[in-house]
Amino acid sequence: MPDIIIFEPMDQLSVDSLAADYDVLYDLELINKPDQLASALAETPAIIVRNQTQVRQALLDAAPKLKVVGRLGVGLDNIDMDACAMRGIQVFPATGANTISVAELVMGALFVLFRNAYLVSNQVVEGKWPRLELHGREIQGQTLGLIGFGAISRAVTTRSKAMGMTVCAFDPFVADDDPVWKDMGVAPMAFNELLSASDAISLHVPMTEHTRHLIGREAISTMKDKAVLLNTSRGGIVDEVAMVEALNSGKLSGAFLDVFESEPVKKGTHLANVPNLVVAPHIGALTEEADARVGQLTADNVRSVLENT
Ligand code: NAD
Repeated sequence: MPDIIIFEPMDQLSVDSLAADYDVLYDLELINKPDQLASALAETPAIIVRNQTQVRQALLDAAPKLKVVGRLGVGLDNIDMDACAMRGIQVFPATGANTISVAELVMGALFVLFRNAYLVSNQVVEGKWPRLELHGREIQGQTLGLIGFGAISRAVTTRSKAMGMTVCAFDPFVADDDPVWKDMGVAPMAFNELLSASDAISLHVPMTEHTRHLIGREAISTMKDKAVLLNTSRGGIVDEVAMVEALNSGKLSGAFLDVFESEPVKKGTHLANVPNLVVAPHIGALTEEADARVGQLTADNVRSVLENT
């Protein structure tokens, strides 16, 4: 019976380091094999997941000996934290290990959105020359509004300030007198104040009942004309229907989504053929470097619980 079940892709060196000391079942298809899954879960004290495996009542009921859940990332919306707490199951997100990768994706998307330099490679090689449609803006001098001022926002702050942007942020859980605002040169703002002051708005909050559709019609109408919107946090924080309307009308001059209300996005999606919308398949944390850090940290966390039980 496995000591550790790994359900989703994990850095191989980290898997190997666990396998040297424990019986590890690393099977990305296990979730689709109900019989094998049930018998593996019945005895295991540890599981490792990314963001697809739903650690909810059904899985927890099938795992009576479970003591620890390692999460290869930071969002915890696929894990029933209350149910885990009731059972005394420890849950370890890989806090901080993928921060830089997401921040770099945001920076890349900011540059792309301000230059409109996307979706035209095919036109250029087909002999079209769409120069005038690509009349962009510099990011230097623009105001970036961050929703949530946690780890990723702070990594985006240092990078965007180095590019000459002015940065403000809305985060009701960081007190206005917290020294971090002054230390990082970021202005704390109320939600609506930030929306109307920003040329670019980037979301870095967890998915909660308060953040679902935080950016909907009303929020978008408060934004500057021609603002750009970036969501690398969780799908559903942006109301996609409202965003599509705003891109079609030109209220928003561009948007970047790495996360979606429904993943994976299906053929025939309402996001197809929307002007100035750039999308990526939830790749914020998918770099070699983040994988190695996330894998190592998660392996260490799981190991620390198994060693002490
Ligand atoms: P973090 O916990 O360091 O920061 C989140 C911040 O959001 C905190 O400062 C918190 O106070 C704030 N917050 C919570 N509720 C809020 C609200 N209602 N309004 C405003 N602020 C609020 O997390 P992080 O590492 O910066 O990550 C942010 C989110 O990014 C994660 O929750 C995760 O969902 C997402 N994420 C996505 C990817 C990806 O692959 N695209 C990778 C990593 C993280």
